[in-house]
Amino acid sequence: MRELETDYLVVGAGASGMAFVDSALGESDAEIVMVDRRHRPGGHWLDAYPFVRLHQPSAYYGVPSRPLGSDRIDVSGPNAGFYERASSSEICGYFGDVLEQHFVASGRVQVLPMYDYRGEDADCHHVCSLLAGEERTIRVRRRLVDATYVESSIPSRHTPAFEVDSDVRLVPPNDLVDIDEPPGGFTILGCGKTAMDTCNWLLDSGVDPDRIQWLRPRDPWLFNRACMQPLELVSAYVQMQARWVEACADSEDGRDFAHRLEADGVFVRIDPSIEPQVFRGATISTPEIDALASIERVVRAGRVRRIATNSVLLDDAEVPGDPRTVYVDCTAAGVRPTVPKPVYERDRITLQYVTIGIVPWSAATIGAVETLRDDDTDKNRLCPALAFSGDNSDVLGVAHIGMTGIAARSAESDVSAWNARCRLDPARAAAGRTDDPDVAAAFTSVVDNFGRAMQNLGEKVATPVAAV
Ligand SMILES: Cc1cc2nc3c(=O)[nH]c(=O)nc-3n(C[C@H](O)[C@H](O)[C@H](O)COP(=O)(O)OP(=O)(O)OC[C@H]3O[C@@H](n4cnc5c(N)ncnc54)[C@H](O)[C@@H]3O)c2cc1C
Repeated sequence: MRELETDYLVVGAGASGMAFVDSALGESDAEIVMVDRRHRPGGHWLDAYPFVRLHQPSAYYGVPSRPLGSDRIDVSGPNAGFYERASSSEICGYFGDVLEQHFVASGRVQVLPMYDYRGEDADCHHVCSLLAGEERTIRVRRRLVDATYVESSIPSRHTPAFEVDSDVRLVPPNDLVDIDEPPGGFTILGCGKTAMDTCNWLLDSGVDPDRIQWLRPRDPWLFNRACMQPLELVSAYVQMQARWVEACADSEDGRDFAHRLEADGVFVRIDPSIEPQVFRGATISTPEIDALASIERVVRAGRVRRIATNSVLLDDAEVPGDPRTVYVDCTAAGVRPTVPKPVYERDRITLQYVTIGIVPWSAATIGAVETLRDDDTDKNRLCPALAFSGDNSDVLGVAHIGMTGIAARSAESDVSAWNARCRLDPARAAAGRTDDPDVAAAFTSVVDNFGRAMQNLGEKVATPVAAV
C-alpha cells in the first residue's frame, strides 16, 4: 500500500473540484491531490448527451485563471445575439487542458484518475484504483475537499425509478443520435433542462411537433437567457439583478416572486396557462421557449410509474402507449437536491452552492475564502451554503441565503477584490460601465432596495440563515 501526503485531497474532478483547485492554487502555495473515479476531468460532462450545451455563456464557466471559448457573440441559431455556450466536448477538452497545462505543470498538483475515494480512518484517507485494484493511503495536512456533494445525476448514468416492460424502447437522450430509421414517435419523460434540450433538438432536426409526446409532471420557471449576459451585454445582467432584489423586497412567497420576475421579462415559462412548480435556475432563450410551446401533446399526470407495451402508468392517470415510439428518459435529477451543511468543518470542505446558480463560481469562491481567511466561523459566515430543492416555493429561501453571502463577501475588501478579478462572476464587467445609464440605474436600485429585500426575506423565510 503506497502512501501520499498533501495539503488538500480533492475528491471529484468535475467543474466544482476544478474551480476550487484553480482558485486555491492561484491564492496559495498549497499542494493538492485530486482523485476521480472517471478517467479524465469534466465530471458529468464526460457522459452528457452529444447535443448538450451550457445553458449559460462560456464566458463565466470553468476555472478563474483560463478563459473558456473566445467570448464570441453568436450570430445565428437560437442563441443569436448572445454569448457562445460551450458543448460538452469543448468543456471536457478545456478541463483536460487546464489539468495538464496548469495544474500538473505547476508541480503542486498530483492527479489520480480512475481512483475511488473509499473514506478515512483515524489518521489517513483511502483511495483505490478501479483498474489495478491498488489501494493508496493519503495523509492530509489541511483538509479533505468533497467535490462530489452537488454531483449531477444524468440520464446515461442513472437507473430510472419506474418499471419498463422488456419490449419497450427506452433510451437516454445520448442514444437518439444513433437512430437510423424514423420511429413511430418520441415520448419525452421529465420536466427539466435535459427534457427541454431533447425536445428542442428533435424539433431543430425537423421532427414534427405532433410526433412528440411530452410526459411533463410539473412545469419549470426558467431564466430568460437575454438577462444572463456578461461583458459587453452586462447591462442586461445587472438590470436582472435589480429586478431580482426589487422582487425580494416586495414578494409574499415564491409564486408572487416568480410572477413579478415574469412581468419584468426575467423569468419565462413554456405555457402561460400553467402555474410552474419547479425552479432550478436553468436558462433558456425565447426562440427555444416558443419552439417548446409548439409541442401540444403534453401529459400532466404526475411521474411515470410503469411503461408497458401498450400503456403508460403515471401517478394520476394511465395513458395509451405505442410500441413503435421511442421513450426518452430525461428523469434524472440533474442538479440533485441536497441538504445544505457548513462548507468549512475542522478537517473538511464540502463544496456547495454559495452563489445563486453557477457551480464553478461557487467552488472558486470557497477556494479563495479558504486561502484568504484563517477562522472557520468567519469563512462560513462569508460562504453560507444554499441548496436548490427544485421547488419554486423555496426560492425566497435560496435568495435569502445567496444574498446574505453576497452582502458578507462584498463588505470584505480582500474577498471583494478577489471577486472583482474573477471571470466567473457574470456581473464583473459592470463595474467599468457605470457611465451606461441602465447600469447606473440598476446599481442605484440594488442599493436602494437591498436592505428592504433582506428584511422581507428574513420575515418570509422559515429557516433562518444561521441554522444552515
Ligand atoms: C445538462 C446539464 C447542464 C448544466 N449546465 C450548467 C450551466 O450552464 N451552468 C452551471 O453553472 N451549471 C450547469 N449545470 C450544473 C452542473 O451540475 C455543474 O455545472 C457542474 O458541471 C457540476 O459539477 P460537479 O463537479 O459539482 O459535479 P460532477 O460533474 O457530477 O462531478 C463530480 C465528480 O466526482 C466524482 N466522484 C464522485 N464520487 C467519487 C468517489 N467516491 N471517488 C472519486 N471520485 C468521485 C465523479 O466521478 C465526478 O467526476 C448543468 C448540469 C447538467 C446536468
